[in-house]
Order: sequence, then structure tokens, then C-alpha cells
Amino acid sequence: MNVVSVNDFVLKFDGDTPILKGGRCKDCGNYTFPFLSGCAKCAGTNMESVTLGKKGTLWGWTVQGFPPKSPPYMGDSDPDTFQPFGVGYIELPELIIEARLTESEPAKLSEGMAMHLVAEPLFKDDEGNTVMTYAFAPL
Ligand SMILES: [Zn+2]
Repeated sequence: MNVVSVNDFVLKFDGDTPILKGGRCKDCGNYTFPFLSGCAKCAGTNMESVTLGKKGTLWGWTVQGFPPKSPPYMGDSDPDTFQPFGVGYIELPELIIEARLTESEPAKLSEGMAMHLVAEPLFKDDEGNTVMTYAFAPL
């Protein structure tokens, strides 16, 4: 059984360590997540791929209490077995990104709390690989 990224474009692994990939405009310094071929701030196209910080703070959040409908959700979409998960905005050193949270209990989340990047299983593919996605966990 292998562990693979849900999307090599945004999540890579250095051994077991997850690495979040984004973009940076070489002209104005604006960061993007995911990587974009153009800059939304200066409209330039001089973008480079960068590794984003692994630690940040929780800026805001909610709890996804039912299977997301669209775009097609790759996790468990069976309403009888679906497990709610947190979704939040994480303020990284470079920019604020939206991410899945490992914690879904609202009482255990608070604005400004320290969070760190982890990878967690999302589903098993047809070859039996465990497909991982990025998430943030309380430190
Ligand atoms: Zn720019």
C-alpha cells in the first residue's frame, strides 16, 4: 500500500513530511495558493513555484457537517458514514489559505490559535493507495 498525494501540484512529500506548494510573483512578491501562472496583484506572468510555511494561525473556520456536493467530493460522501471536518483560513507567513482542519469540534478551535501543516487520508484509490490531502492541526 502506497501513500500518494491527492494533487502533486499543491501537496508533495519529503519522506513522510508534507510540503505545501504555492507560487510567488518575482516582480511584486505577491504569493498565490495554489500556484498560478499569472499574478492577480500586478497582472505579471513572472511566477515561481515556492514552498509555503508549515506553521500559521487560525484566522476563521467553520465545520463541514455534510458531504460537499460540488465539485465532486473525493472523500466519504455517504451521508450515513460521513465524518464532519473543520474548514478554516490559515494565516501563513506568506498569505492566508483555505484548508481542511483535523479538528471538527468548535469548542477546540479559537481565532489566532497556532496550527501546523499535516497530511491526512482522504480516500483509497482503485489501486489501494491511500490518497492524502493537506490539512492543518492545532499545535
Ligand atoms: Zn505580481
